[in-house]
Amino acid sequence: MTALGRPQLLLQVSEVIMQARRYMMDLAGSTGNILTHHKTIQDLERYLGNVADKKEVKEFLTKVTSDKDGILHLFPWTGIINEDCQLSETFRVPDPVTGQMRRLISKIPPKEEEMFRNMIRRLNTIVKTAQDLDVRIMIDAEQTYFQPAISRITLEMMRKYNTEKAIVFNTYQCYLKDTYKEVCTDLEQAKRQNFYFGAKLVRGAYIEQERARAAALGYEDPTNPSFEATTEMYHKTLTECLRRIRILKDANMDPKKIAIMVASHNEDTVRFAIKKMEEIGIHPEDKVICFGQLLGMCDYITFPLGQAGYSAYKYIPYGPVNEVLPYLSRRAQENKGVLQKIKKEKRLLLSEITKRLAKGQLFYKPKGKYVPI
Ligand SMILES: Cc1cc2nc3c(=O)[nH]c(=O)nc-3n(C[C@H](O)[C@H](O)[C@H](O)COP(=O)(O)OP(=O)(O)OC[C@H]3O[C@@H](n4cnc5c(N)ncnc54)[C@H](O)[C@@H]3O)c2cc1C
Repeated sequence: MTALGRPQLLLQVSEVIMQARRYMMDLAGSTGNILTHHKTIQDLERYLGNVADKKEVKEFLTKVTSDKDGILHLFPWTGIINEDCQLSETFRVPDPVTGQMRRLISKIPPKEEEMFRNMIRRLNTIVKTAQDLDVRIMIDAEQTYFQPAISRITLEMMRKYNTEKAIVFNTYQCYLKDTYKEVCTDLEQAKRQNFYFGAKLVRGAYIEQERARAAALGYEDPTNPSFEATTEMYHKTLTECLRRIRILKDANMDPKKIAIMVASHNEDTVRFAIKKMEEIGIHPEDKVICFGQLLGMCDYITFPLGQAGYSAYKYIPYGPVNEVLPYLSRRAQENKGVLQKIKKEKRLLLSEITKRLAKGQLFYKPKGKYVPI
């Protein structure tokens, strides 16, 4: 998403989202997942009790909405993907002590507001095209300081476009300490607001950058302390998604309400996914779980998955060389362990060629049971 507009704006929107969360935490009087506090408009009115008769506060309260469970929505978040959205005007809240309206985002110059709207317009065009072509679109996850905005915008895109199937997928990075909670929150929102939820689960590509930034600016490292903790987070999050799909199946509801891409080159994670699917009773033909690896990497994982009937995709970086190279070099850097995987791939290829030469089957094409969706 950072390629579609000025990344600085995503940074600002992310800051607003974090501030809005803090405001809601003050209202809830505690920490944790705001959705589980079930705060209603009446709670907000009580919170603003001392200043509730001020004209601006009254006006603010008339705009606050709630969902079908009565849970409060401080801002009309759907507005963020409207092509006429005014960021500076949308994100204002009353101060509970003085009653004065406080901007959660500093005044944005009209030119930058326009840039934001342009970015949203480009995104809408891309997603609409994907919908017309009946293909899915995965929105990549980036650094944590952009991520609240990317996630929020993507969730709104899901709400808008995922009304009959999961077209838009958000990406969740399991190296982050909060990922399980974030996924549960978004799954809840999808359920309560009745849209199809699409998620690409990854471990995360920016670990060194995240840690260096946290150390330099003196805030808590947002990433898990070890590779094992990241793996645990991945497996726990995936298991929760599978569990919820099973609940949908058991309730005779559309299991495709939740669609997951297991995007990993890690064999243990792919094995874990297959085993858990089996255990929980989700089959490849349910077409709710798919797998993804980058083109040129780990074909020995992708191909057998496809041959065994699982939906398996290769991610193809596409674009002008000067723009694609930084992406590829990042992949090479983050995947230092990939050299090991490439060695394994070469070994497997060599043994296959030797086997075919010995059997005189150089052009042998293995036949799988794969039915494309
Ligand atoms: C199809 C596809 C799409 C992708 N899209 C995105 C995307 O949108 N956003 C994104 O950020 N990444 C994305 N990635 C990259 C992904 O996040 C991983 O960096 C990459 O796949 C390596 O992780 P792995 O599970 O494949 O393999 P592994 O080699 O088993 O895992 C390496 C990963 O483990 C984690 N890790 C390693 N050491 C530690 C440690 N000490 N503490 C905590 N965690 C650690 C890191 O996340 C590291 O990248 C994508 C990958 C694929 C295959």
